[in-house]
Amino acid sequence: TLYSGSRHVLSDLFGPRPCAAILFPLPLPEAFDYAIPEGMELEPGDHVAAPLGGRMAQGVVWEVKPESGGRALKSIEHAIGGPRLGEGTRRFVDWAAGYLVEPPGVILRQVLRSTSALRPSPVETVYRLSGAQPQRQTPARQAVLEAAAGEAMSAADLARAAGVSGSVVKGLVDLGVLIGEDRPTDPPFDDPDPYREGVALNQIQADAAITLRRLVSAGGFQCALIDGVTGSGKTEVYFEAIAELVRREPEAQILVLLPEIALTQSVMDRFEARFGARPALWHSDIGQKERRRVWREVASGRARIVAGARSALFLPFTRLRCTIVDEEHDPTYKQDEGLTYHARDLAVARGKLEGALTILASATPSLESLVNAEAGRYVHIRLPGRAGTAQLPEIDTIDLRDFPPEKGNWLSEPLIAEMDQVYEKGEQSLLYLNRRGFAPLVLCRACGHKMKSPETDRWLVEHRYTGRLICHTTGFSMPKPKACPECGAQDSLTGVGPGVERVAEEARHRFPDAVVEVFSSDTTQGADAVRALVGRMERGEIDILVGTQIAAKGHNFPRLTLVGVVDADLGLAGGDLRAGERTYQMLVQAAGRAGRADRPGRALLQTHQPDHEAIQALVAGDRTAFLDAERMMREMLKLPPYGRLAALILSGPEPERLENCAREVAAAAPHAEGVEVFGPADAPLAVVRGRWRKRFLVQAERRVDVSAYMRAWMARVKIPAAIRSSVDIEPYSF
Ligand code: ADP
Repeated sequence: TLYSGSRHVLSDLFGPRPCAAILFPLPLPEAFDYAIPEGMELEPGDHVAAPLGGRMAQGVVWEVKPESGGRALKSIEHAIGGPRLGEGTRRFVDWAAGYLVEPPGVILRQVLRSTSALRPSPVETVYRLSGAQPQRQTPARQAVLEAAAGEAMSAADLARAAGVSGSVVKGLVDLGVLIGEDRPTDPPFDDPDPYREGVALNQIQADAAITLRRLVSAGGFQCALIDGVTGSGKTEVYFEAIAELVRREPEAQILVLLPEIALTQSVMDRFEARFGARPALWHSDIGQKERRRVWREVASGRARIVAGARSALFLPFTRLRCTIVDEEHDPTYKQDEGLTYHARDLAVARGKLEGALTILASATPSLESLVNAEAGRYVHIRLPGRAGTAQLPEIDTIDLRDFPPEKGNWLSEPLIAEMDQVYEKGEQSLLYLNRRGFAPLVLCRACGHKMKSPETDRWLVEHRYTGRLICHTTGFSMPKPKACPECGAQDSLTGVGPGVERVAEEARHRFPDAVVEVFSSDTTQGADAVRALVGRMERGEIDILVGTQIAAKGHNFPRLTLVGVVDADLGLAGGDLRAGERTYQMLVQAAGRAGRADRPGRALLQTHQPDHEAIQALVAGDRTAFLDAERMMREMLKLPPYGRLAALILSGPEPERLENCAREVAAAAPHAEGVEVFGPADAPLAVVRGRWRKRFLVQAERRVDVSAYMRAWMARVKIPAAIRSSVDIEPYSF
């Protein structure tokens, strides 16, 4: 035991030895020091295996120190291959840990994603023609030679392509007609070609592009806000920035964040048309193999353009020079579960750390970004009109108090009449309702019992499409029961209120000859299904599309001329400080789908509150009026962007112990000037999957570093193991 157990101690006796701080992708408070075994060369960012708590764990060298200071240290076991994590990425991990009030290992875990990312991709042998001809030609051989004339392929693929058996291919290899070479099974991504022609920009777009090109040539961090109405050519303009950057620095890496996977396909197609190469695509649904491929290509600096969802922000870029946050106002950029963060805010921060140009684009920028632009912190680029001849849609309201739909229906007569005209002209309508499923509430007609989620106490939503009742918060689902679980009455459970599926049913009933489709995240699952539906819509094969927010964002449907907003009031109430802003943005985006090509569009909003300021501003096309009212409210209440917010959520299985813990945590809150702590109160979701949740809300003046305050607070409390705590910087719900 002397030799195995004390080996590291003994090695320390032979003079000072370098050691390394290793950060593990685990919720540990910091990086730990280990001795570097003799002969092992390590640099920060290298991956290693080291003993941790009785097992071998994989971590990353965070720092190499000249000596261990005479301490007895455990030794690193061995180095692991895989691309080294660049300095920018490591600094981002440290910064994000401080800002989000998380241990750095939790952020590192987000960066590494899967350990298999470090394994090199396997190699396969592919074959191409050597130029030699077989002495004896046969039809089977001829077929192989033709198949091999194109791209190099594996023997199996060649045989399949030629429709022959593997032995024919092998015979040609033996004769030297085909020669093999090894190639990784994960091929690299094509480089973008920045010299291809884009569309001919109009004057305003050209000016915007010049501004962006100037920022690119200046180099370093800058943040620009492209504030342009729907269809004004924001994408074409940021393409110019990308082209300029790639011309100047072919090795530069560019990240394009998109709010919705549903949108990525058409953006990928546009990238390919513009740059002759598809970007690397990253989101939570890509397969393990593709995940490894993208991760490694990004980490080695070979992938130039990455398009992805919010988590792409944590990819290990080595030369990130530009980040674009498309639809920067979009609420899906806020990650609410697990590690909570706002991808737009982190994108700006990462841009600063890496010295990268950051471009935010939106037709309805967030108040946060607008205030930054007005204060001169961001370069404000405006595109006030639609590209080409397309006009912004005319927006009108339908007062539901004057035109109530019949009981059990949701479409008013004026909306139906307009849809009818559009249909007769061979154009398309979009009915927008941000509610998935058939009915948001299921009720027993006999006893009045409401079907609730056993996990959250929220209403279960009826989905006809799958015949199930689903909790939209946790995903809990069950078949719709035949009998009421409360009183036992048969067939008494009825869906109440509208969801997209029910509105589609009504539309089919009203327009029996029309093609009506539903577009929502649960009826259209996966990239292929989305692509197929979007394609049919673009080709005019659908007459009436009934969709949630995924139908309302970013798409270009040239024949769509009418957008009917089924319930414009939805979302105006509620405990969300951004409810008004979000409703306004959503309605502008939805209306913005209409009339994007040469046919003028119209949007009709069904509402009970036509006088609400958000609705009025929308109809008048007066964003300033809406924003001014919103701004005043936020300024008065010291809410973001005029103040800062943070939340602390404690959750545990036993309400009483949670209550006690919350009381102790409350008592430990430090006093600080300009900071107020509210709570503990029940969290907006008071119970999830058997865990009770309490929340503190911290409101601070803008000058306060609210993350530092939260760190100081957390350092003063000891939270029992059964209770989980999580900090949310700039929480959304209020
Ligand atoms: P946004 O991103 O602002 O919604 P896009 O860049 O998607 O706008 O442009 C909307 C549509 O108009 C796209 O089909 C785009 O190709 C087209 N477009 C934009 N600018 C021009 C232009 N100058 N000439 C021709 N077509 C254009």
